[in-house]
Amino acid sequence: MKLLVTGGCGFIGSNFIRHMLNKYPDYEIVNLDKLTYAGNPDNLKDIEDHPAYYFVKCDICDAAAVNNIMSKVDTVVHFAAESHVDRSIEDGSAFVRTNVLGTYTLLDAALKHGIKRFVHVSTDEVYGSIKEGSFKETDILTPSSPYSSTKAGSDLLAHSYFITHKLPVIITRCTNNFGPFQYPEKLIPLFVTNLIEGKRVPVYGTGMNVRDWIYVLDHCKAIDFILHNGTDGEIYNIGGGAEKTNIEITKKILNILGADESMIQYVRDRPGHDWRYSLDCSKLRSMGWKPEHTFEEALDATVKWYADNEWWWKKLKQ
Ligand code: NAD
Repeated sequence: MKLLVTGGCGFIGSNFIRHMLNKYPDYEIVNLDKLTYAGNPDNLKDIEDHPAYYFVKCDICDAAAVNNIMSKVDTVVHFAAESHVDRSIEDGSAFVRTNVLGTYTLLDAALKHGIKRFVHVSTDEVYGSIKEGSFKETDILTPSSPYSSTKAGSDLLAHSYFITHKLPVIITRCTNNFGPFQYPEKLIPLFVTNLIEGKRVPVYGTGMNVRDWIYVLDHCKAIDFILHNGTDGEIYNIGGGAEKTNIEITKKILNILGADESMIQYVRDRPGHDWRYSLDCSKLRSMGWKPEHTFEEALDATVKWYADNEWWWKKLKQ
């Protein structure tokens, strides 16, 4: 397989590339990344000289460059996106450009070059909030933030390329990831690194919002599984089966790091903050995939990773 990974210098993309290079020594991987603030070559420092790995600094909106790279590969896993909800509320323009126009540019180039499989990596946030029960792949999309709306737009574009052009597209929608190499603006790495630095942790509102959490390696393995076993035109929900309130997560992190609740700082809630995300993942589980890590064991390992790798995150927080 000649695999193009977009956004491979980000959090999930870098974990995915490392997983694939270890598991499939005969695959070639091209990593196309613009290196925005969230793209960090340090995430792949250990494999940058691997003979089957190539890095190309490129914007997914640059049609000429994207077409050139697409002519050299046969499969695509598309992670590149603007991904932070708070930034999308401040200014959504980069989100519209990268998430919508960038995905369109990739789909169009994939069609021109006869790509055999295009996995579009999306999020549970496209479904919006749900008080009770869980969203299935067939439910309508009611996204709340500029981030999730642009991801929903990219999902619909990707699906339209399957319907209209028969491009072999698969869409995955995953819940909140955590693990090594996550930019320290996201909840778990922000809280862990703040506490290591002796700073308080900002909890939105009452901290009662609920998210399902998955260890990033379980997400990567799910994408690998779908890449090899999925069906063109299908959508697959991916979740860790670990729904937690934000305050529960906060207290667990405080506990692991031996800090007390005086380190919590309740801050004004995010506008349009979704109450609860929940996915029904029975479709993927019935095919034989399930997460391998428990939430508690993965959280312990994640906290330890940030404690052991200050070299990685200290400069990002300056
Ligand atoms: P991230 O922000 O850590 O990484 C995004 C990467 O995309 C960076 O390397 C960045 O440089 C690159 N990028 C951004 N704009 C680009 C452009 N125009 N051209 C080329 N590269 C560009 O994101 P992440 O958390 O690793 O998320 C990856 C994907 O997974 C996203 O599509 C996101 O919507 C989805 N997702 C994330 C989560 C999560 O919890 N993090 C959950 C479900 C789905």
